[in-house]
Amino acid sequence: MTTLYYLPKAHISGNLASLPQEEAHHAVSVVRHKAGDMVYAVDGEGGWYQIRLSRVGKRVAEGEILDTQVEYGEPTYKLTVGLAVLKNQKRFDLFVEKAAELGVSRIVPLITSRTEKKKLKEERVRKILRAAMKQCGRSRLIELSEVCLLNTFLNDVSDSLLLCCHEREKAESALYRRLEDYSGEREATVIVGPEGGFTDEEIEQVQSVGFKLTSLGTRRLRAETAAIAVSTGVMLHWS
Ligand code: SAM
Repeated sequence: MTTLYYLPKAHISGNLASLPQEEAHHAVSVVRHKAGDMVYAVDGEGGWYQIRLSRVGKRVAEGEILDTQVEYGEPTYKLTVGLAVLKNQKRFDLFVEKAAELGVSRIVPLITSRTEKKKLKEERVRKILRAAMKQCGRSRLIELSEVCLLNTFLNDVSDSLLLCCHEREKAESALYRRLEDYSGEREATVIVGPEGGFTDEEIEQVQSVGFKLTSLGTRRLRAETAAIAVSTGVMLHWS
């Protein structure tokens, strides 16, 4: 797959594209593009661009847009994943990278009763999201919501397939069953608990607003593994 550069819309004027400094540096000093070369970029909002470079410098790469596409590499469904903030951010970061590859549209870092850490290094997550978008060949950045209390999140869920990953659920609630039984719009919201799991009260609460519990098998998965597994299941079912 060809290298994709990140080209925010603010760097486009008419049919002239100017890569941000960091991207230009990579294109010119690392990949060694020259004037006249064709490069490809995505804007993080669904746009893809074919650009012929006309001016290159140490931190400059500009050119004319020759072709564009919309929703390049994007899935035809919408998937929001609410994952509890994890003690070790590296584990949350792992999910973030995989989420981009698996077609997740939005990530909501959740605070639940058993969440031990309440903060996320947001800029670090955004950097991973940009790199992963380019690496896997999609054109939309995952929307990263602010860290949010589970209660607040539950007040605002849309009318879609609502799933709560819960390791104590029975075989009837296997993810594939939940997906097969659902025939609405291709839009899902799934939530995954922290290292200590959801409390019984939280499980009651999420069910009261319409979430169905779903099992990912008999083994207890780490939270980030559960988030990756459920995103994979949805992707395979709806792709
Ligand atoms: N110590 C917790 C317990 O035994 O209740 C385990 C929590 S688990 C490490 C973290 C989260 O991953 C859970 O809250 C759940 O959302 C999800 N999870 C882990 N294994 C799962 C499974 N087999 N099926 C569904 N969800 C699972």
